[in-house]
Amino acid sequence: MPPCAHGLADPRMCPDCRRAARQAAPVAPIERATDELVALALAVRPDWREADVRADLANASMIGLTWPQQLVGLARLMADPCAVSRELIPPHQRQEPTPDPDVVIDRTARGVEAARALLEERDAP
Ligand SMILES: [Zn+2]
Repeated sequence: MPPCAHGLADPRMCPDCRRAARQAAPVAPIERATDELVALALAVRPDWREADVRADLANASMIGLTWPQQLVGLARLMADPCAVSRELIPPHQRQEPTPDPDVVIDRTARGVEAARALLEERDAP
């Protein structure tokens, strides 16, 4: 094997030659396969609901995630036993369900109570 134009004895070790070879190679088509991905997700994660997975994929498309990003992202979540499919959407773009007003009021009251207790706390003399 002759040395490459960039001066490396083995062109397979040359990043420039490898990049050129990659760009010259024919580009394989990546097909969207939502139904198959949903079926795989439900087979791998029986604790997930089909409606949720479909909604999360639809939301992912809406916020501009590409199909390869959705595919790889969902597969990564499937393999994480603590993950849910909603995590496919970045946190700042997630639409959280509207919280129950009673829960919010209760939580706020507890926060106020905790703050008051801290304010009334005195250092030991
Ligand atoms: Zn080279």
